[in-house]
Amino acid sequence: MMLTAIQELAAALAEEDRLEERGVLAAGDRTTCHTHQSWARDCAANPAHVQARVNSAWATRALAVLQGAR
Ligand SMILES: [Zn+2]
Repeated sequence: MMLTAIQELAAALAEEDRLEERGVLAAGDRTTCHTHQSWARDCAANPAHVQARVNSAWATRALAVLQGAR
């Protein structure tokens, strides 16, 4: 099955959300960004991430909540 770029991103996001929720994947090891719903490489320069990178997973989630991502 051929996936479009958007479908591929959506699938990767869902999968990494699931893995992170289960504690299998560390927030810093994600290839997708839950906050921006994009590939991590596409928003790595975003100021929101300077914070997220140095802090732990809970801080990343707190940031997402503050930004209304969830
Ligand atoms: Zn991002």
